[in-house]
Amino acid sequence: MTADFRSDTVTKPTAAMRRAMAEAEVGDDVLDGDPTVRALEERAADWLGKDGALFVPSGTMANQVALGAWAFPGVEVIVEERAHVVLYEAGALSALHGLQTYTLPSDRGALDPEAVRAAIRPEGIHSPRTGLICVEQTHLESGGRVVPLANLEAIRGVAREHALPVHMDGARLANAEAASGIPANDWAAAADSVSVCLSKGLGAPVGSVIAGDEAFLLRAKLLRKRLGGWMRQAGVIAAAGLLGLEEGRANLEADHRLARELAERLHALSGLSCPPDGVETNIVFVKIEDERFPAPLLAAALEERGLRVLIHSHDVVRCVTHRDVGPSDVDELEAALRAILSL
Ligand SMILES: *Cc1c(COP(=O)(O)O)cnc(C)c1O
Repeated sequence: MTADFRSDTVTKPTAAMRRAMAEAEVGDDVLDGDPTVRALEERAADWLGKDGALFVPSGTMANQVALGAWAFPGVEVIVEERAHVVLYEAGALSALHGLQTYTLPSDRGALDPEAVRAAIRPEGIHSPRTGLICVEQTHLESGGRVVPLANLEAIRGVAREHALPVHMDGARLANAEAASGIPANDWAAAADSVSVCLSKGLGAPVGSVIAGDEAFLLRAKLLRKRLGGWMRQAGVIAAAGLLGLEEGRANLEADHRLARELAERLHALSGLSCPPDGVETNIVFVKIEDERFPAPLLAAALEERGLRVLIHSHDVVRCVTHRDVGPSDVDELEAALRAILSL
């Protein structure tokens, strides 16, 4: 028995998902359209309040298709300095699209709209052209923080003044929805394109969606084809994604409660710090103040006890709650940490 707190990507498809996958009506999505993929795309577009949506294999591809659809080589993207598209997409912005980043610091994921305004390049032949603004919701590196809607709307306002599009990396937008009670379409309205992962808290084994307006989708479709992300009988996986959208969202509030509880209990242990007030969704960064245990050592000691956490930096491990971990796993995690830290 192991409990895997490394990420919400580790969730395995439920029995209902496996059944839906087995029974999915499929077709060649490239030639004629796959009916289950189409159903997923329609459902996602409806949920996000956009003209349409595209199914793609991963969140990284979703972001890269969207960013590439808005920009062209030499253009600059204004983006938060610790954004997933900057840190964790293998340099795709420059490698695939020839984009340059203008990174800004943030207050736990919230960019200062005035700093965004100031980062927009003046017209002229010397500067790069500012092409778009990219925001992230929830903000991963701030521990899944829900960036306030007013902040995102202010950034969109600045973007509008300069006729710039905004892409929202909404990998965990469903978590923002569950945590805030603000419907996904209201969040999505603060951006021109949105990407959402189906394979995280929503529990599908594979897949993401990108939503936007018709003109955007036309360009995005071309890029999806170019990157090899247009799949054939993809209804087999879209069926699980559809269930994730229909039913997986109901699990997220429990994930958030469990993350908060995990943070409360670990923060109470001497040698660990993870203030529970900072935990808004399902991600807990645990800072290790006990110098005997650098993160790799602590993670290895937990692994020996059947508990997995992600090494985030030399003194931080990450714990994420999801459908496949429960209260008894948090009990075990706390007990194991007490034993390891000899408390
Ligand atoms: C997980 C994640 C993605 C997509 O990652 P994949 O590994 O490609 O699914 C994008 N943005 C954020 C903020 C994420 O957490």
